[in-house]
Amino acid sequence: MKHFDSPHRDDVRIDRAGYQTFRSMVKRLNRLEEMAGHGRFHILGFDEGIKLARDYAFIGEFSRDELNLMEDLFYRDAAEYGFFGDKTLTGITDRINRGDVIYISEQGNYLYKDRSFAIFKKIRQQTGDNVTLTSGVRGVMKQFLLFLNKTYKNQGNLSLASRSLAPPGYSFHGNGDFDVGQAGFGALNFTEKFITTDAYKNLYDLGYLTLRYELDNSVGVRFEPWHIRIT
Ligand SMILES: [Zn+2]
Repeated sequence: MKHFDSPHRDDVRIDRAGYQTFRSMVKRLNRLEEMAGHGRFHILGFDEGIKLARDYAFIGEFSRDELNLMEDLFYRDAAEYGFFGDKTLTGITDRINRGDVIYISEQGNYLYKDRSFAIFKKIRQQTGDNVTLTSGVRGVMKQFLLFLNKTYKNQGNLSLASRSLAPPGYSFHGNGDFDVGQAGFGALNFTEKFITTDAYKNLYDLGYLTLRYELDNSVGVRFEPWHIRIT
């Protein structure tokens, strides 16, 4: 896990026969996000995304092969490529109800009204503007995009991607967990440097960091000190 971002010898990859389909599907997902908008895409459902792609020539309809590949990836047991976490969303078409979430405008993320928002509000009250929300609720499409972009950048390496991102359906961001960071720290918030920030120290002292993915966890995910577990 020390070298989570490098290929390992037994890593599982997208097979050669399906690679063209995989590539066109990833590119289509990126166009879909561009069209839907960064904020809205966080909670876009699978069916909604398929329809949007069909309606806008800029995105283009998902082919039968692309849809089959997405279903295969969603329903495949991620343990086959080294991810041992629980599934939080069981169906590819599981949706996030717009009425259940609240939009946090400054960061373009959503939080569950009943589970997460009160915790985030309390954090802000206790830490001021020092702590920022870096990622909130993520639906199936958003998790597909994050996970598959990472896979694509690494030549189809599913195992490598799953060491830093939960595969679609397995993310606790679908359930209410969220990520926080030090305001102004940018992408470094998603590195181990985060633990050197005042935001981390504040959150740690206040007892918020009951981590989902601890150092040397058995799930197969890197240490994520920025991830707030809500259940
Ligand atoms: Zn997270």
